[in-house]
Amino acid sequence: MRKPFVAGNWKMNLDLASGLALVSSLRALEPDPAIDVAVMPPSVYLFGIVQAAAGSAIAVGAQNCWHETKGAFTGELSPEMIRETGSTYVILGHSERRHTIGGKANGRVIGEDDALIALKCRAALKAGLIPIVCVGETLTQRDAGETEAVLAAQIAGSLTGLDGTAAQKIVIAYEPVWAIGTGRNATAEQAQSAHSHIRTLLGEKFGQLAADSVRIQYGGSVKPDNALELMKCPDVDGALVGGASLVAADFAAIITACIRAKARH
Ligand code: PEP
Repeated sequence: MRKPFVAGNWKMNLDLASGLALVSSLRALEPDPAIDVAVMPPSVYLFGIVQAAAGSAIAVGAQNCWHETKGAFTGELSPEMIRETGSTYVILGHSERRHTIGGKANGRVIGEDDALIALKCRAALKAGLIPIVCVGETLTQRDAGETEAVLAAQIAGSLTGLDGTAAQKIVIAYEPVWAIGTGRNATAEQAQSAHSHIRTLLGEKFGQLAADSVRIQYGGSVKPDNALELMKCPDVDGALVGGASLVAADFAAIITACIRAKARH
């Protein structure tokens, strides 16, 4: 039985005071122990947010890390540094890091590739962090019927070097690029189909135990009014939430929807 997991990716939003107020509102709701809940603030706020969440069921994570322990990597944070803040999770390979952030070559962003994400994933696990590895196709790839092939390449590439035991510790977030921040979520059928495909891929690569135990979150315009339907999908184990995680009532409603959906299975 996989424990549902809802995480809020704050991206580059909120200041420290609003982040602390958000955590305080979430604490007051006392999240159900049947679900894991986490928030991912900007890294400069990690210490403060960890402190604000201390003693509650709310875990904290970072939005990215580098894969070396120390050295000349200006502006980067090692997994050990993130661990030292008291954080539990780290998001890796988010679509904005794959497709939006970075220099350009021939007019296209050179974002993070699967090989880099795999290095980060192994480093994060070594430091005791739980990586949330994001995968997902662009709209062009979906329209071309390439979704399953793209997911297969991303799962194989981003998880290179892991064995079955390590794979069981990670979380996957299926986030179709066209659904992130657009207000256009995947339908429950599209989400279930992609999640089931990812689970099959995990089974082929890491064995049945990993396939059965790895939690696969759906991310992409999850809101209070679509969360229940998405969370009812048997292979959807929770949500990675962007915009709606910045509003305590909306994030809480998504957590509640997830608990309700999973109580039926
Ligand atoms: C995300 O940031 O991972 C995300 C899914 O964003 P949103 O919920 O705003 O689409």
